[in-house]
Amino acid sequence: MKSEAFYNWGAWKAFCPSPRCTDAVALYPQSPYPPFEISADPVFHQRCARGHEFDIEAPDEDTRARIEVAIGEDSVHDGRTWYPKGHPAAALYHHPSGQSVSELEEETAELRRIHETEESDRNRLRKLLADLGVTVDTDGTFNGRI
Ligand SMILES: [Zn+2]
Repeated sequence: MKSEAFYNWGAWKAFCPSPRCTDAVALYPQSPYPPFEISADPVFHQRCARGHEFDIEAPDEDTRARIEVAIGEDSVHDGRTWYPKGHPAAALYHHPSGQSVSELEEETAELRRIHETEESDRNRLRKLLADLGVTVDTDGTFNGRI
């Protein structure tokens, strides 16, 4: 059996392809024993927690690295993913699949523009409220009344 690797929450993973099994493994597995080191090398043949053995297909090392960089360091916070084209989990979770590195880079640039706009809007609102005597703390709570 084979499973295609995908990237989410900052890690490469693969679902067990055995029917009705819902387990997944990390392409770079973590040792179950102290000090729980994460494998420096990908492991392309693994066994799920229920004992099903399978092979994992993944983009080559260079492509994996480019996908990780293109998605960006904030991927864990905003839940960004990369799935190979037609991956069933992408359809299930309504994520795109088969995105190229340049498509991911464009998406990241757009998300950064949105974040900057939101931050700019927050700062304008903070200034407006301050002018009206309402102070906004760094955690977004505010004191005062208009
Ligand atoms: Zn399994």
